[in-house]
Amino acid sequence: MNNEPLLRQLKMETRIMETKKFQRNKEDFICEKCGLEVEGNGYTNHCPRCLWSKHVDVNPGDRQSFCQGMMKPISVELKRREYFILHRCVKCGYKRKNKMSEEDNFDAVIQLSIHPVNR
Ligand SMILES: [Zn+2]
Ligand SMILES: [Zn+2]
Repeated sequence: MNNEPLLRQLKMETRIMETKKFQRNKEDFICEKCGLEVEGNGYTNHCPRCLWSKHVDVNPGDRQSFCQGMMKPISVELKRREYFILHRCVKCGYKRKNKMSEEDNFDAVIQLSIHPVNR
């Protein structure tokens, strides 16, 4: 009996599964707030149009949170010439700072820095 072909097939499938798992970390997503299709680049964790995010991480990037609540942008901080958007989960209240990305709607960021949500 020659198991070579079967083994090769199994290895290939394992590789495909691993590739899929990897791609899921830089997922494309549809913004649940404004419906924009966001192309994931591995860093994107919020919508560039309305700036809303989603509570998917326990630690940055791990996608381990069971909360899945929407995260509202509540204020903007400027640190060492970099903008950070402060998000708060509407479901559990968890707060997190996210670096603003180049694709972000800068007008929305400005608006948010002028009118932060104080709650
Ligand atoms: Zn959006
Ligand atoms: Zn949450």
